Amino acid sequence: MKILFVEDEQELSDIVCTGLRKCNYSVDAAYNGEDALEFYRTYDYDVIVLDLNLPIIDGLEVLRRIRQMDAKAKILILSARSAVDDRVKGLDMGANDYLTKPFDFLELEARIRTLCRISYIQIANILECNGLTVDMAAKSVSYGAIKLPLTKKEYAILEYLILHKNQVIGTRQLMEHAWDSEADFFPDTVKYHIHSIKKKLAEAGCKKNIIHNVRGVGYMAGDEK
Ligand code: CA
Repeated sequence: MKILFVEDEQELSDIVCTGLRKCNYSVDAAYNGEDALEFYRTYDYDVIVLDLNLPIIDGLEVLRRIRQMDAKAKILILSARSAVDDRVKGLDMGANDYLTKPFDFLELEARIRTLCRISYIQIANILECNGLTVDMAAKSVSYGAIKLPLTKKEYAILEYLILHKNQVIGTRQLMEHAWDSEADFFPDTVKYHIHSIKKKLAEAGCKKNIIHNVRGVGYMAGDEK
């Protein structure tokens, strides 16, 4: 899952971004409204967390422009403006959620998780794919009773593939959602991680091929087509 975190207070941004990365999200930080829109046009985000008092372009204007481009973008406003009028205005302009500062990190993470779920019309935190269970709250994957010893990156890749079960995911798309935009990555890096996931699946006793390589395109989780 890839998050765009827009906040001009660098210290707060650093703390939250570090926390989100620990929770396995890929996070890009933008420190003003103009950069936020630039990031948004360049990359594909699952959730955008948006401060309102921002330099260059105000948060509400950023919200308005993103909504014009994409009716389905998931946007959570994170603002010190706590007046009812501000909250109503933000929600009226198309924000999916509104959290006021100061906030509890765990609450922010829970709300982001909820927005991610809405994107995929999932009700529960649990995903299932051919006997494999993905717990999105615990960030863990099990095959039967065996918990897979996945690295954070492997978990992010597998979660994204299983959220898009039976759809072919391009290598580029997979990289964009599982890595931060600043990371240097190569298709071979993805190949290496996929290989490692498959190995761990086999070690857990999973005989079925859950991740399929789609030659020249990318990967698909689920039943072979
Ligand atoms: Ca601010």
